[in-house]
Amino acid sequence: MTVFVVSAPSGTGKTTLNRRLIAEFPEVEMCISHTTRSARPNEVNGRDYHFVDKENFESMVAEGRFIEWAEVHGNFYGTSKCELDRLVGQGKKPILEIDVQGWEQAEHKIPDATSIFILPPSFKSLWERLEGRGSDSLKTRWTRLQNAYDEISKAHLYNNFIINEDIDQAYSELKKVVIDGSKSHRHIENGKDLCKKLNDEFKNADWIKSLRSDLK
Ligand code: ADP
Ligand code: 5GP
Repeated sequence: MTVFVVSAPSGTGKTTLNRRLIAEFPEVEMCISHTTRSARPNEVNGRDYHFVDKENFESMVAEGRFIEWAEVHGNFYGTSKCELDRLVGQGKKPILEIDVQGWEQAEHKIPDATSIFILPPSFKSLWERLEGRGSDSLKTRWTRLQNAYDEISKAHLYNNFIINEDIDQAYSELKKVVIDGSKSHRHIENGKDLCKKLNDEFKNADWIKSLRSDLK
């Protein structure tokens, strides 16, 4: 069984990259999560997520139907065992697009999974992508930026890093890991270096300082 876990701060580009992979390789399929978040205008129930209310989500938790679940940006998200078993049963390469808290829970349950952390080239570009997506308010984007910082500080839990600066380059690296099964130490070192730079940018960049004081 080959399961791939892909995590990245919101706005980094993981959905864009994963969708492209699925379109090109029919053996790769997303493991559709359940969420209590409302659907965005372009999202479809059962394709992007199984959109459920909080009551339903809580009963699934109580019944032990999730491999992992977490509260992310104020909403609940979880990976159901049944969805993953279905994909594995069909001989697919499932991709779990989960956050870092989710991987902290799931890594003990699926220790053979290949974990991939996608990084933005800078916080500034992450912020611009969140703005460009046009789906979240300023406050929501700020919450996502803060969470990005927390997630990046746990990137060491992953065994592959991809830097999404140029989308085609990032896609070709994702393909190498998922389709060719390759692992590059150079990418791991580059990823770790970038994590340090991102950490520094978040703490010291003037534009982040002024956003923080504006939103107080
Ligand atoms: P995520 O799923 O990680 O939240 P998305 O895939 O929704 O992120 O991407 C966020 C936004 O950034 C989208 O508008 C997407 O088109 C854009 N984007 C993704 N990758 C790049 C890139 N390499 N360069 C510029 N913009 C990008
Ligand atoms: P979004 O609301 O932008 O679709 O996703 C927000 C965050 O929730 C992303 O970091 C995404 O990876 C994470 N997420 C999506 N599905 C799951 C899931 O099933 N479990 C966990 N733990 N996180 C998830």
